[in-house]
Amino acid sequence: MIEGVKQHKWWGWGEEGKSYHHDDKPKFAPFVKNLVGVDINEPVRPLPRLSDLEIPPSRLEAALRDSLVAISGATYVQADDETRVTHGFGKGVRDLMRVRAGDFGRLPDVVVYPATEDEVARIVDAVVAADAVVIPFGGGSNIVAALEAEPGEQRQVVSVNLGRMNQVIAIDEHSSLAHIQAGVFGPDMEAQLQARGWTMGHHPDSFVWSTLGGWIATRSSGMQSDKYGDIADICRGLRMVMPGQILSLRPLPSTSSGPSVREMVLGSEGRLGIITSAWVNVHRIPEVREIQAYFFPTYENGLKACEQIVSSDAAVMMARVSDAIETKYIMANGKQSSKLSSLLSKGIEKVMLAKGWDLEKIAMAFVGFEGSHNHVTYEKGLVGKIVRANGGLGVGKGPGSLYDQKKYDTPYIRDFMLDHGMICDVSETSTPWRYAAEIHSKTVAAAQQVFDERGVRGVVFCHLSHSYHSGACQYFTFAIADASDGAMDTYDSVKRAIQQSFIDCHGTVSHHHGVGEEHSPWMDQDISPAGVFIQRTLFEGVDPGRNLNPGKIV
Ligand code: FAD
Repeated sequence: MIEGVKQHKWWGWGEEGKSYHHDDKPKFAPFVKNLVGVDINEPVRPLPRLSDLEIPPSRLEAALRDSLVAISGATYVQADDETRVTHGFGKGVRDLMRVRAGDFGRLPDVVVYPATEDEVARIVDAVVAADAVVIPFGGGSNIVAALEAEPGEQRQVVSVNLGRMNQVIAIDEHSSLAHIQAGVFGPDMEAQLQARGWTMGHHPDSFVWSTLGGWIATRSSGMQSDKYGDIADICRGLRMVMPGQILSLRPLPSTSSGPSVREMVLGSEGRLGIITSAWVNVHRIPEVREIQAYFFPTYENGLKACEQIVSSDAAVMMARVSDAIETKYIMANGKQSSKLSSLLSKGIEKVMLAKGWDLEKIAMAFVGFEGSHNHVTYEKGLVGKIVRANGGLGVGKGPGSLYDQKKYDTPYIRDFMLDHGMICDVSETSTPWRYAAEIHSKTVAAAQQVFDERGVRGVVFCHLSHSYHSGACQYFTFAIADASDGAMDTYDSVKRAIQQSFIDCHGTVSHHHGVGEEHSPWMDQDISPAGVFIQRTLFEGVDPGRNLNPGKIV
């Protein structure tokens, strides 16, 4: 490990020593048992030690190693097993299952940690001159197989970790723009911005373990995107190292200079080069920040309310509504003492029953407000009216502030589930509002059909996570109780059914996780064969030798 550069544990999410536990959440074990038949109080099989697994040896040749050492220094050129394994995968559940099973595929042969754009440029040129492969590495948090070299890759593979390039270079206070190095992780970046009274407002669930460059390269979206926009809106300009040249796009509010090169880099997953820095929109830290919780009699009522909120004058920071099963999951996963967990016992249940609600169908929502006191009061008034018009009721800000504090802990739960023989993953899509309810019900049914066909117990639930003028993103979580040798097969079938359902129901293959290898098979259905032709031509033109993270996207 390199001092000052964070590295995930090789077998799961986040740092060693931090994990999910349910000791203080008494409702969680019965909830899981009831839903998928797994007893999470049972002891688990210990994880293998990395030293017990067979790691394919590095194929790095002396000549390339010497070049890399000459550029960045020997300390910053690492080829030990743990470094190679942590850089060879993202954090999709398939990645987690494979590393735990010692199925390492084609690991990078070496990881290099440049400190400057000049070093990045010299590394890229050295790698291309050696006809090797270069794969940029941010936080390693992607879940679409965007980091793994192609299985049959015979050439040397160099992973370039941007973690030392982690500074906010400048803030243009007049224009509300910040120039920031691409390797900075979310919390470090926000700390530097907030120390000067600014925020970028981009908060994906993976915020703690993902980087600015990774967000741009995957077209990320954060939970506050309703106010701050997706990274595609936030990122106004950038610099990217390409073989033999550097792309420099100045920050502009808008431009008509032909097809947008900025948009071509957004979502390029390392296939066009290495992003070294970006200019991003920043905002003054708001006076008030508040997340209110609401209940609706059904998910469909919640969807309707979100649609109306986005077209109202209330420019909220976030609006999120969970379907019935996810609502139960949220309740069951609250600490015994928490406001979240005790919500329904506080008389609210009586109110719901009096309104004739079926408690099996209720949907919980969080709506976030930011701005001056007056603005927030005005927005809350508007949202309250919309909630009531859709049969909902407000329950205050207690549960919302708890959600806000705990939101970055949830990724650890996937490792815990995997320890207990459950495969948990997520898939997300966006559709026009017209299809929002339909894509939800049909996708849940498609997954359920596969559970039934394969004779496994599983569950799929969902929330609306990002709203737009014309539609919304819905985020599906699925858990399958399958610890058999065929578990990966089961996972593949469920994942395929969900992705196909997205396409069949007018959705996109992914709203913000990107493509990688995982979603590549659906690209011609998503953007049409002509769209694939344009993307392929772009990648082949920029990178005729297939040296830049080949095999991703198309
Ligand atoms: P990596 O995983 O390191 O890389 C991703 C891709 O980008 C790779 O192809 C890599 O080569 C390329 N890349 C990385 N850095 C650069 C660079 N500087 N220049 C060029 N290419 C580069 N995503 C969201 O958008 N919103 C969420 O809320 C969200 N929640 C998540 C929750 C969990 C539990 C997990 C596991 C993932 C989640 N993700 C989410 C997905 C993931 O965090 C994003 O895709 C993120 O943008 C990846 O950033 P990273 O720095 O980890 O990139």
